[in-house]
This record gives sequence, structure tokens and C-alpha cells, in this order.
Amino acid sequence: MKMHIGGQWLDKDEKIEVQNPYDGSVIDTVPKSTPDDVSKAIATAQKGAQVMRRMPAYERYQLLDKAARLMYERQDDLGRTITMEEGKVIAEGVGEAGRSAETITLSAEEAKRLTGETLDLSAASNGVGKFGFTLRVPCGVVAAITPFNFPLNLVCHKVGPALAAGNAVVVKPASDTPLSAIKLVEILLEAGFPPEAVSVVTGSGSTIGDAVASDPRVRKISFTGSRDVGEHICRTAGLKKVTMELGSNSPVVVMDDADLDKVADGVALAGFANAGQVCISAQRILVQEKAYDDFTDALKSRVEGITTGDPLTEATKMGPMIRESDAERVESWVQDAVAGGARLVAGGSRSGTMHQPTILADVEPGMRVSCDEIFGPAVALTRVGDIDRAIAIANDTNYGLSASIFTQDIDRAIKYAQNVDSGNIHINWGTMWRADMMPYGGVKDSGMGKEGPKYTVQEMTETKMVVIH
Ligand code: NDP
Repeated sequence: MKMHIGGQWLDKDEKIEVQNPYDGSVIDTVPKSTPDDVSKAIATAQKGAQVMRRMPAYERYQLLDKAARLMYERQDDLGRTITMEEGKVIAEGVGEAGRSAETITLSAEEAKRLTGETLDLSAASNGVGKFGFTLRVPCGVVAAITPFNFPLNLVCHKVGPALAAGNAVVVKPASDTPLSAIKLVEILLEAGFPPEAVSVVTGSGSTIGDAVASDPRVRKISFTGSRDVGEHICRTAGLKKVTMELGSNSPVVVMDDADLDKVADGVALAGFANAGQVCISAQRILVQEKAYDDFTDALKSRVEGITTGDPLTEATKMGPMIRESDAERVESWVQDAVAGGARLVAGGSRSGTMHQPTILADVEPGMRVSCDEIFGPAVALTRVGDIDRAIAIANDTNYGLSASIFTQDIDRAIKYAQNVDSGNIHINWGTMWRADMMPYGGVKDSGMGKEGPKYTVQEMTETKMVVIH
């Protein structure tokens, strides 16, 4: 596939191979762009921003709405593309494609809701006789830098609101998974967006990332990815608006009054969907003493029932990891934990990119499988005495994206929600749940700013205060 810069589709002699992580076969290639290509894309986006700024809100709504309808029509193709390049099972790939269309629909609706407020300036001693109101205006050029694990929906969460708010956008998708992002840009152009308004540059983040982040013509950077790259981008960006959606090692607390079958179902889903490569995957499972053994047995039977293999085969419930090096990293962290005294309850083995779904019990909070982001198909079980100890361990991390608790006791649930530092809290379900309209984002090293189209359009616009004297 080609990249879209300067208002047209461009190829390059140098290419990046996009591989199917299951069997290593080359699905397609994309151009390997340079910092000069990025500069050209941003120059075009500056012109696009002028066009978008003048486009009436209703027209922005109509174009996004049309794009969403095209996405629904092509949901199967988009889902298959996601599965082929990312490795998630086909049901998850098609599911992501459907959610992506919904994200664009939600964005379309927000195009009609960009309102300001009136202010009673007489509330200030010097404001009597004056009238004030605010206007929300687009930022101009938005840069969207996206990760591999939701290669379409997380692009939609940036591109949809950026266009809804009247900006131009330059997308830099993950090099492992650029194809679904390019298909999205094709759809947006087919829906009628001006070619200058939407660009997609393909190339390694280490080569072109600084050219995107440091360019003063970019007013807003929206990044989803790892903590370290996020911090690097913040340092490089200088005086820009930034939204950072970063990683986590999400805790699930299981109190002794919980419905253990429901917990086991929730953890099996939250820990192993997309081979654990979800920013809100359940990782640290903190189980109260009395429930510990029964819960471990209930989870073991479910996890051992997860069939692994070719993600395009309907019967497969978990596919490969994105790269062999990531599967090796998970394997070595699991081995380190076992060497340090943790007990292997299920899984533990690896072949190529395929790491078996793994449960480790008796994990100490200081072990790497617990205190770092594992981002793979393994969960770490730790015994806790009571709710206060559970909250203390849940908070003993630099991350804070999603946390959950299973209990029938409303007081314990509310105490958990109030005291755990996390952008999302779930009561009686696992950490991995999201509706695309809700405010979504982390605290601490999990980032700053919120996504969800209603919230993203706020972050992708500026407020102007107007005073009539
Ligand atoms: P990375 O941080 O490795 O990459 C994310 C994006 O940043 C890619 O497009 C990458 O390009 C680019 N990039 C890499 N280096 C630079 C640089 N120096 N400057 C600018 N851009 C750069 O993350 P992954 O793709 O591996 O995704 C996994 C991470 O994302 C996990 O930590 C996960 O928790 C997090 N995540 C967070 C979410 C949230 O909502 N909070 C949601 C999903 C994932 P390239 O691919 O070319 O290297």
C-alpha cells in the first residue's frame, strides 16, 4: 500500500514489510518515509487546516457519517486486515472494525456539539456592563501517533475527533500494523474529506518520530503507546498540546465474598484477549486468602481451555504476539518469577511468536511479572489479607489506567473506587472493558488527557474568550 502525503498517494523505493505475526508471511509493503516526507505532510496539513476550519460543522458531520457507513459496509475486510497484520483472532478483528465505525459515528455527532459558554462578567468588580462568551476553535494541525495493538480503533479515536473539530490530521501508524490505518484514510477520502486534510506517513518511529513531534507547525500531538516513547515525545514536543495514552499493569482485586465463577470468566477475558496485548489487560490478580485456592482452580480450567493457533481460524481463541522478541520477553519474565519462588499453574511455554496463556501463583509484588507492564498472555496471582492491603498493593505502581474489584460488599467497592489511583475503575468485572464514548485515559505514568470523542474534541480545540465592552 502507499502513504498519503502532499494530498496524494505516494510510494518510495525503500519499503517496510508488513508481516503476519502468526506465520511470518509478508502481507504487503508500505513506503519507508524520511523526515523530509514528514515535513511535506505537515506543510500540506497546514493548508488542509485552513480548508477544514472553513468547513461547516454539518458538512464535517456528514463526511464522518458517510465514512462510518463505508466502514460498516467493509467491516469484514477491515477486520481481516486487522487480524492479518496484528494477530488477534478474527472475532476480535471484526469486532474492532465494528467498534472503529462506531467511534467515527460518535465523532460525527460531536462535530455538531462544539459549543462555548456565556459568562456573566458583572460577577467581577471591573466587569459591569460587559458581555463575554467563549468560542471553541480547531487547533490546526494534529499529529496522531498510534500503537500496533488496536491498529484501527485507536487511529479512529484520534482522526475522528480531529476532523470533527475542524483540524487537519497527520497519522503515523505503528510500523508493524499500518495497513488498516491506510484503509481508513482511503475511506475518509472516498467519503469526501479534502486530500490536504488527512495524511498518513509510514516509517519507523525512531527515524521519523522526532520530525513529527518536534515540528512547530503541529499544534497538538495525540500519542498512544509505551510509557518511554511517550515521555520521549513529551520532551521533544516543546510547547504543544499533548495527550498521552500509555501503558499499565492493571490490578484486579478478588474479595472472599466474590462470585468466583464470574471472576474467573472476567479474568480469563481481561488477561488473555489479544494475547494480553491490551493496555488495560488484567495483570496483577490480588486475591483474598479465603478465596485464593478456589479461584486459582476456577481460573486454571478456563485458561487451559483457551485454544491457540491461527487467528484466522474461527475455533482459535488466542493468537500470536506481535513479535518474537516480545514473546521471548514474556517467557523470560515468567522464568524469572518461577526462579524467584512463584508457582506455574498453567502455560509457561513458547514457540516463536506464540506464548501459551500463563498463570503464575504466589507472585511477590516486586517481581517483574507484577511490577512492570508485561503486555502479554500471563497473569500474576498474589495473596492479600484485606481490602486495605489490596488497595495498597494496587497503588504500589507507577501506572494507573484501569483497576477492578470483585466483591458483594458495596462499602469495600466504593472504598476501592475512591482510593485506587486509576483512570478507570470497574466493579464486578475485569479491567479490560471500554465503551468508546466514555472518558478514557490514565493517571500517573499511564498518561494524561482523555479519549472518547466528546472528550477528545475538547483536547483538540482551543478556547477563545471574547469580551464585548
Ligand atoms: P510503542 O511506544 O513502541 O509505539 C507506539 C508508536 O510510537 C508507534 O507508532 C511507534 O512507531 C511510535 N514511535 C516509536 N518511537 C518513536 C519516537 N521516538 N518518536 C515518535 N514516535 C515513536 O508502543 P507499541 O506500539 O508497542 O504499543 C504498546 C504500548 O502501547 C503498551 O505500552 C500499551 O500499554 C500502550 N497502549 C496504551 C493504550 C492506552 O489507551 N493507554 C492503548 C493501547 C496501547 P514504530 O511502530 O515505527 O516504532
